[in-house]
Amino acid sequence: MTPEQFRQHGHEVVDWIADYWERIGSFPVRSQVSPGDVRASLPPTAPEQGEPFSAVLADLDRVVLPGVTHWQHPGFFGYFPANTSGPSVLGDLVSAGLGVQGMSWVTSPAATELEQHVMDWFADLLGLPESFRSTGSGGGVVQDSSSGANLVALLAALHRASKGATLRHGVRPEDHTVYVSAETHSSMEKAARIAGLGTDAIRIVEVGPDLAMNPRALAQRLERDVARGYTPVLVCATVGTTSTTAIDPLAELGPICQQHGVWLHVDAAYAGVSAVAPELRALQAGVEWADSYTTDAHKWLLTGFDATLFWVADRAALTGALSILPEYLRNAATDTGAVVDYRDWQIELGRRFRALKLWFVVRWYGAEGLREHVRSHVALAQELAGWADADERFDVAAPHPFSLVCLRPRWAPGIDADVATMTLLDRLNDGGEVFLTHTTVDGAAVLRVAIGAPATTREHVERVWALLGEAHDWLARDFEE
Ligand code: PLP
Repeated sequence: MTPEQFRQHGHEVVDWIADYWERIGSFPVRSQVSPGDVRASLPPTAPEQGEPFSAVLADLDRVVLPGVTHWQHPGFFGYFPANTSGPSVLGDLVSAGLGVQGMSWVTSPAATELEQHVMDWFADLLGLPESFRSTGSGGGVVQDSSSGANLVALLAALHRASKGATLRHGVRPEDHTVYVSAETHSSMEKAARIAGLGTDAIRIVEVGPDLAMNPRALAQRLERDVARGYTPVLVCATVGTTSTTAIDPLAELGPICQQHGVWLHVDAAYAGVSAVAPELRALQAGVEWADSYTTDAHKWLLTGFDATLFWVADRAALTGALSILPEYLRNAATDTGAVVDYRDWQIELGRRFRALKLWFVVRWYGAEGLREHVRSHVALAQELAGWADADERFDVAAPHPFSLVCLRPRWAPGIDADVATMTLLDRLNDGGEVFLTHTTVDGAAVLRVAIGAPATTREHVERVWALLGEAHDWLARDFEE
C-alpha cells in the first residue's frame, strides 16, 4: 500500500468508524450470533492474491459487525465499561503509523519520556502520593492490563521480600504468603500461580458486611503466618471490587502492612480514575500507604484498551525484579543510568507507544472534561439507586459509591429468586436495547448496572430502569400463574 493509497483508504476507515459511532444505537447491544457463525462466513483458506480494500471494508459490515457486542452502545451496562473516544483512536492510529518499539529509551526517546510525563500528569490528576512521581523514588508506567499490573506488583514485592534472592534462587513457594479477600479480582490468584507461588500461598482475609477487607482479620492472619515462619509478601487491597465496587479500607490496612513490612498493592482497576474528581478522593483515603497502584484508563477514562496506569513508590524494587540486559540491548544511554528503559518495568520486552493515546485524550478533554465524564456517571448511578430504593420491586444490594448499582429484584414467596432474577436478565439482554450482567451478593443473584459508556445519558438510564420494571412486572405475573 503506497502512502497515497493509505491516505485514501485511511479516510474511508475513519469515515466507517465515525458512521459506526453515529448509528451505534441502532444495533442490538449484545451480538446475536451463535457459536461458529462468524467463522462460517469466512473463506476456509487465506486469499492467494491481494484483494481490493473495498472488499475488506464491506466484510466489516458483513462478517464482523454481526459478531460484535457494542461496548460503546449507550445501552451497554454490563461488566465494567471499556471506553474509547475519538482522540484515543487517533492517538492509537499515530502510534500504529509511527510503528516504533519503545522497549528502551534509545529505541525512541519520545516514547519513554512522553510516557513518564503523562504518568506524572495522571498522578497529579488523581491526587496520588508524591512518591509515585518520576521525580521521587517511584514512577509510573503504562501496562497492558490491571491483570498484568497485579502480576508485576507481586514480582516486585517478592523481590523486596526476598531481598533480591528470587533472582538467583527463584521462589520457595512453601515460604511465601499473599493476602486477598474473597472479593479480590481473580487476576491476583493467577499472578500467584504465574509467579510460582501457587494457590496455597493465597490467604483469603475475611470481609465485613460491606464486603470490604477486615483489617483486624488481616492483622491476625499476618501474625499467625509470621509466627509459623512464613514470609508475607503482598496484600492486595481493592478500591472498587469487580462484583460490587466495595472499597477495602486503605487507611487501616496501610499501617498493618507497614508494621509487617508487607507490600501494599492497591487494585483500583475500574474505580481509581474516579479520583480525577477531588470530591471522590476520600473514597480511597490512605492511598499514601500504597507501594503500588493500578487503575485502567481503558475502563472508564475515555481511552481504548490497552491503557493501564500503574505506579510504584519504589521503582528499584520493580526494576530489580524485572530488569535483564543482554549484550544485544546494551547502549550508551542505558549504561549512563540516566534514562528509564521501560522494558525493565514490565513482563514483555517490546512495547507500543501507548502514551500517545493518553496524551491525546487528556489534551482533548482537559482535566475538566475528564472530571465531567466521571461525575456525570456517578450522578446517574446515584439517581438510579434512588429510584430503586423507592420502588418495592427492587432492593439496592450493595453500597454504590461509584457508577455501579447492584439491584436485587424482589419476588413473591415461593418463587425461586435466583431463577427469576436470571430469567429477568436474559429477557432484558435478549431485547437488544440494553445489556447488563450479574453477580452474587450473600450467595444470591443480583443484577449489575454499570453506567460508564461515553454515550450513555440520563435518557438511557431512565430507559434501562423502565425496562427493568416492565420485565419484573411481566415475570412476576408469569411466575405466579
Ligand atoms: N482488578 C479489578 C478490580 C477488576 O475489576 C478487573 C476487571 O474488571 C481487573 C483487575 C482486570 O482488569 P484488566 O482487564 O485490565 O486485566
